[in-house]
Amino acid sequence: MSDCLFCKIAAGEIPSTCVYSDDDVFAFRDINPQAPTHILVIPRQHIACADEITAENSALVAKCFEAIAKIARQEGLTGGYRVINNCGEDGGQTVCHLHFHILGGKKLSERMI
Ligand code: AMP
Ligand code: ZN
Repeated sequence: MSDCLFCKIAAGEIPSTCVYSDDDVFAFRDINPQAPTHILVIPRQHIACADEITAENSALVAKCFEAIAKIARQEGLTGGYRVINNCGEDGGQTVCHLHFHILGGKKLSERMI
């Protein structure tokens, strides 16, 4: 999508601190970190939100989770971490390009569920 912040970040048109990149997935540090490690993992292809995952594009979600495991090892998150997806307005999503937050680097205290 031409007017999507995260499409532009994945394309290198807007700078970010990249921590992982391959043909399908891009990951970068969150600009407003909520934990010592806070990384956003996105498919390069524009998918607006989790609600738009289909049989046609779900392989990209699997690729994101393969990347998450690699990034967690790379970042030394040996004690564990949390993966969060916010979907839609009620879910608190502010950027409409599917992304998974990796939060870690400390004992995360707040439990949402
Ligand atoms: P969400 O609220 O789940 O849509 O998450 C969007 C996330 O994107 C927030 O945690 C923001 O801090 C982060 N964010 C927004 N703009 C940028 C940017 N230019 N670079 C890195 N992270 C960003
Ligand atoms: Zn996009």
